[in-house]
Amino acid sequence: MAILDIVLYPDDPLTNVAEPFERIDSEVMDLAQDMFETMKAYEGVGLAGPQVGVSKQIIVVHEPESKPMCLVNPVLILQGERIEGEEGCLSLPHVYAVVPRASRIKVRAYSPRGKKMEFEAEDFLARIIQHEYDHLQGMIFLERIDIITREKKLQEWQEIRKRILSEIQQG
Ligand code: ZN
Repeated sequence: MAILDIVLYPDDPLTNVAEPFERIDSEVMDLAQDMFETMKAYEGVGLAGPQVGVSKQIIVVHEPESKPMCLVNPVLILQGERIEGEEGCLSLPHVYAVVPRASRIKVRAYSPRGKKMEFEAEDFLARIIQHEYDHLQGMIFLERIDIITREKKLQEWQEIRKRILSEIQQG
């Protein structure tokens, strides 16, 4: 297992639409394990393939109250009303915004072992899955908020990103 590097917004392949897996084999399981490890190391609650440089339809989620799960080729059906909640993202660390999301979702996906899954989720778990699912469409959470707040947050992010990159350069 390995801790993978997190891709910072807007680097590739974060803004691309991720490809579905055409077969689910041991490579998918290995990737899922590395993604779990990475999510844990960064204390995240979710992580999508494009965030670790893999433009494939895979997400890992760990809502504190439920078991960690990995979803391959997920499909979401949004239900319930829209509720607002604060979100952050490992690809834009230190940037937070209040984002409207469906309160309940129906999820269809494969496990990394190729087992078909179908379940419903609500509240925080539903929010995390929707946030990660957006990454597979090449979208970030700031695209879900009003344009004035978005531009302010993106400006904030530009400064933070500069700081992060100069810290990396200095080692
Ligand atoms: Zn994110």
